[in-house]
Amino acid sequence: MAIAWASHLEPEAVIYDCMDELSAFKGASPTLKNYEAELFRRANLVFTGGQSLYESKVNQHPNVYAFPSSVDVAHFGQGRTLKEEPADQANIPHPRLGFFGVIDERMDIELLAGIAEARPDWHLVLIGPVVKIDPAVLPQYENIHYLGSKDYKDLPAYLAGWDLAILPFARNESTRFISPTKTPEYLAAGKPVVSTSIRDVVRPYGDLKLVRIADTAEEFVVAAEQALQEDTPASGWLSRVDAFLEQISWDWTWGSMMQLIESAIATTQNTTINGKNGKSPISTDIPEAPSIITRDFIFDYLVVGAGFSGSVIAERLARNSGKKVLVVDKRNHIGGNAYDHYDDHGILVHKYGPHIFHTSSREVFDYLSQFTPWRSYEHHVLASVDGQLVPIPINLDTINKLYGMNLNSFQAEEFFQSVAEPREHIRTSEDVVISKVGQELYEKFFKNYTRKQWGLDPSELDKTVIARIPTRTNRDSRYFTDSYQAMPLHGFTRMFENMLNHPNIKVMLNTDYREIEKAIPCREMVYTGPVDEFFDCRYGKLPYRSLDFKHETHHTPVFQSAPVINYPNEQLYTRITEFKYLTGQEHSKTSIVYEFPKAEGDPYYPVPRPENQEIYKQYKALAESTSGVHFVGRLATYKYLNMDHCVAQALATYKEIAVKA
Ligand code: FAD
Ligand code: UDP
Repeated sequence: MAIAWASHLEPEAVIYDCMDELSAFKGASPTLKNYEAELFRRANLVFTGGQSLYESKVNQHPNVYAFPSSVDVAHFGQGRTLKEEPADQANIPHPRLGFFGVIDERMDIELLAGIAEARPDWHLVLIGPVVKIDPAVLPQYENIHYLGSKDYKDLPAYLAGWDLAILPFARNESTRFISPTKTPEYLAAGKPVVSTSIRDVVRPYGDLKLVRIADTAEEFVVAAEQALQEDTPASGWLSRVDAFLEQISWDWTWGSMMQLIESAIATTQNTTINGKNGKSPISTDIPEAPSIITRDFIFDYLVVGAGFSGSVIAERLARNSGKKVLVVDKRNHIGGNAYDHYDDHGILVHKYGPHIFHTSSREVFDYLSQFTPWRSYEHHVLASVDGQLVPIPINLDTINKLYGMNLNSFQAEEFFQSVAEPREHIRTSEDVVISKVGQELYEKFFKNYTRKQWGLDPSELDKTVIARIPTRTNRDSRYFTDSYQAMPLHGFTRMFENMLNHPNIKVMLNTDYREIEKAIPCREMVYTGPVDEFFDCRYGKLPYRSLDFKHETHHTPVFQSAPVINYPNEQLYTRITEFKYLTGQEHSKTSIVYEFPKAEGDPYYPVPRPENQEIYKQYKALAESTSGVHFVGRLATYKYLNMDHCVAQALATYKEIAVKA
């Protein structure tokens, strides 16, 4: 509304700091939206006071940034130690459930009444002015205490005497975009918190299990009981709270805002516009927007990682959306783990172990077909077991050869049924195999291979790991059964070169994104590296399994009788791959690779276990609340994805980005 009084100002830059969707508040002026539209036209830069508000404003201006509430930890932290009670609270019995803030149409009045009725032994303490609503509509119970407004400096003393802090907001238009500052303030005082499902409280506080979420009076009472018992220093809750609060200081917010403001000013100063001295006079009566250049970014997107995930998104953003994209990779090549190259003997090899393309998605296959012709290739693997080489996945030939039998498919079915040990619940990788083929085949083919590969027993790994390998009663010896099975005719790297070959894409190798992110500002980021590293391993390191690759070239045209031979039992390596089978290359020599699993090193495999998933969930919640960064791919979404899954995921993410952009 102030824009009407600001016409005499000649600002260096206009910053719109949008704290709330005020037009949705009770009694809002009907002209507010028009003034806001004008302000959007004038502004060089926009800040929003929360994530939901950001999402609703981001498409209205090219330069919008979310700054959710920070907290003065030192001030509210006094709520953990202060002993002296303010006089008007001192006689209120415990347990006390407290709220401070404006009491207006955003308050869920029925909820307050419901809690007060359900637990007459609990006392609700409400601090703050009653605004815009008739005080008579507020529920009157003996156990609800309205103490009126208090000074900011006195709030910690009130907080100190509460047992639980509450955010009893209604879910309606006026609360859709709110981002209550009191959430981190309550937490800084070390109080357990229960809130209704306000979007910006649920994400991140609810997702990170720092605040409990409940909507009905019944749920609220249960959540409050649990919070009172469980959200304590002893349960580890308070240390998680403190770790989170460390990341949201006002100093950080202030510093980031200042940087953006300075760069907005610098941009307007360098731009000739229709005001004097390059300044834009504010006025309410000019219908035409001044041509202030608000974009001070060289690139629209910084894509971290030039593997499948990063390259697909970069390609789509550049070719389909006309965006300028900077792709960085800390390695000295593109292609990520799918990178291939000609070795010293001129043989095409996969630097990071065998990569065989297969997919059942027509969309993925058609998409990649724009960048490469294909060579049809169906993959076959043998396993070295009991001194013999037999097909894996286990099929009819495997058991006939292994046990010197001559069964047909029906008899094989009966054989598997006779050895299988069905399990009621299939939770782990051990359950998957034992319930299908029994203990003996499990031990010969899976148990030791898996222990080597993952450093874990199959009983400790999610069922999805070994469920990748089927069991068959026919003679089909293909490793995969997808409808499209083919290798890029000229190799993966050539395919990546074609994807990234676009005037809007620049590629920077040997570069960790952290080295350049400040020097080369980009509007948004697509991150495909390990998600825990992005957040400085704040919730602990996520385990990724690694491998050592031992590449060799032999002076013989053929080294082994199959493209890949698995060694479940005797060797330290898991498998040997002979590349010429995969690539179809003809050469008088042959190159192979051994894979030796290890715990440390380059991250290759996310480790699917429930406790890792729990850690990942925390990172995921944080990732979702990090505006302007999209997390994509095997490492950033901590999922055991194949190449085609990465392409599908990246295409889907691109579509989401494109809708908003
Ligand atoms: P990556 O390929 O890992 O790319 C991420 C990139 O980000 C890396 O290049 C990394 O250097 C870069 N990066 C990370 N952090 C930073 C940073 N801070 N700054 C700059 N750059 C950074 N899939 C199949 O479909 N078929 C197969 O046969 C197959 N075989 C496989 C065999 C092995 C041994 C392995 C490890 C994987 C295999 N996969 C296979 C899976 C396949 O490799 C992945 O699905 C795919 O490559 C993942 O692509 P991505 O872009 O998500 O990640
Ligand atoms: N596996 C096994 N024996 C084998 C092949 C696979 O125990 O001969 C198990 C092992 O745990 C492995 C998982 O099945 O990690 C998935 O195998 P896949 O070949 O799909 O693994 P990747 O190619 O991703 O390494």
